[in-house]
Amino acid sequence: MSGFKKASVRDAEVAGRRVLVRVDFNVPLDDGEVADDTRIRAALPTIELLRERGAAIVLTSHLGRPKDREPELSLRPVAARLGELIGADVELAPGLVGDDAEALASGLDRGRLLLLENSRYEPGETDNDPALAERLSALADVYVNDAFGAAHRAHATTAGVAQHLPAYAGLLLEREAVELAAVRDDPAPPLVVVLGGAKVSDKVGVLERFIDVADEILVGGAMCFVFFRAQGHETGDSLVEEEGVELARRVLDAAERSGCELRLPADLVLGREFDADTERRDLDGVDVPEGWMGLDVGPRTASAYADVIGAAGTVLWNGPMGAFELEPFAAGTRAVAEAVAAAPGRTVVGGGDSVAALEEFGLAERIDWVSTGGGASLELLEGKALPGIEALLGAEAVRA
Ligand code: ADP
Ligand code: MG
Repeated sequence: MSGFKKASVRDAEVAGRRVLVRVDFNVPLDDGEVADDTRIRAALPTIELLRERGAAIVLTSHLGRPKDREPELSLRPVAARLGELIGADVELAPGLVGDDAEALASGLDRGRLLLLENSRYEPGETDNDPALAERLSALADVYVNDAFGAAHRAHATTAGVAQHLPAYAGLLLEREAVELAAVRDDPAPPLVVVLGGAKVSDKVGVLERFIDVADEILVGGAMCFVFFRAQGHETGDSLVEEEGVELARRVLDAAERSGCELRLPADLVLGREFDADTERRDLDGVDVPEGWMGLDVGPRTASAYADVIGAAGTVLWNGPMGAFELEPFAAGTRAVAEAVAAAPGRTVVGGGDSVAALEEFGLAERIDWVSTGGGASLELLEGKALPGIEALLGAEAVRA
């Protein structure tokens, strides 16, 4: 994809100018501290490039889904963590806009950093309020969007503000778009898509798209139970997203007609409830008895999936194979993660929980591209236009 040739931050004139950078600092907090700074670190290359080039940097991000100015969702801990990572002070403005933010931004020297308080404290943010976008644009001379994780949202900080300033893609957003579009549009064959997790309705668009282009789709996690239900198997107390069953029926039909092999688990690991201490048993088969739930794929399935992954030219993985947070039900996800890490083909992983699993197993460095975007990566893979990317390309509306 070449959509960013004109709009990359690399080509922006920023020396001595104020640059508003939309980042994705929507990180998990624990007891008022940043619990995982992966997303902050992912934004550092763009921030460092802008600092080296003499820009004054005004950062904006949302954090969680505040209903009003909930103090627990302040970006203060993020400012502190960013300051440590970058070795410089990061001042926090009390609001996204307003007199204080304006005064702090206009007094910002080259190389200095200001973080605007949680953008979703401002009700106009999620409505993409044009007045808010215009007021926000007054804080800077140039706009850079590096928040790939929020690029599927048309909000004031991700889309609206781009209409008022020269707008560029940050390094992370650009790389995400390039890597994911490459898997979507030009994967080295055979293409193997591994899908799991719990959010079936969010992922069915990806299934429907890849059923025509993938060579194999390997299904695990709670996702397999909508397929088993559609096929008439017993699912016991397993997590089944009811709306997903009809979608699964459609996908099974489409798989019949396409050249894609859709594989479902052949064995499962069952528990009584979603708990690490629950009674556990292996099931050689997929009919889950009453009083049990499927919480992982079984060893036969995991090893068959690992073989397919090892022979792939390209692997796209989204969604854990089971309830990997519970150690007795982590083996299937670990086996697939190890197979993806060891695969000679190109490997791309997206989805917050899948990435967390990779980190937990110490395998993230062995993946070719680990996406920071859950919903955004799914929408891009489905072929949807992302408002945060479209806004950078203006009338050209080139799809990444
Ligand atoms: P991702 O964030 O990688 O896109 P999802 O959010 O869709 O993945 O799903 C992750 C969640 O799915 C995990 O919390 C995991 O415990 C849960 N999960 C996976 N398999 C099962 C299962 N068989 N039963 C219940 N929950 C499951
Ligand atoms: Mg998730």
